[in-house]
Amino acid sequence: MSQLSSAGSSGLSLERSSQGGVSSRCWCGGEVTTYTSKTDENPYRRFFRCVGGVKEKNEKHMFRWVDDPLLEEIMMVERKQNQLLEDQKKMVTNNVELQKEMVKEVVEKVEKNMIEIMRQELMVAKESMQKSIKKRICVVIVVAVSMAWLYGKMI
Ligand SMILES: [Zn+2]
Repeated sequence: MSQLSSAGSSGLSLERSSQGGVSSRCWCGGEVTTYTSKTDENPYRRFFRCVGGVKEKNEKHMFRWVDDPLLEEIMMVERKQNQLLEDQKKMVTNNVELQKEMVKEVVEKVEKNMIEIMRQELMVAKESMQKSIKKRICVVIVVAVSMAWLYGKMI
């Protein structure tokens, strides 16, 4: 009895593993090929379909989902990625206010720095102007004095 049941179960598992090996011909004699589903319910899921059935859009022809554990995994990963993307979006929207604050802070800092730099530049410009004026005054005085000295000598 136990031998029979084990044989039965092994036969069942054999049948299960041979599910992927779907007959290459439909009952109508049409070729059976794999397609990739593009529906929202089963995105990227592959299925066997009779070529004639696809052309005729007839549901009675050969149809069977491909039991592909890899595809299941890919879909899982995709779902996770979508979840991650959603989470990121949420985080971004939460961060917008924070980013605004940060940008404001940076802009304020830059403005302060700019004002400071402008002030320093102005100071330098003023100083150099004053220096050049002083220099000119010095030159004028020297010239005037030497001219006066020359005049004094001439007279
Ligand atoms: Zn068919």
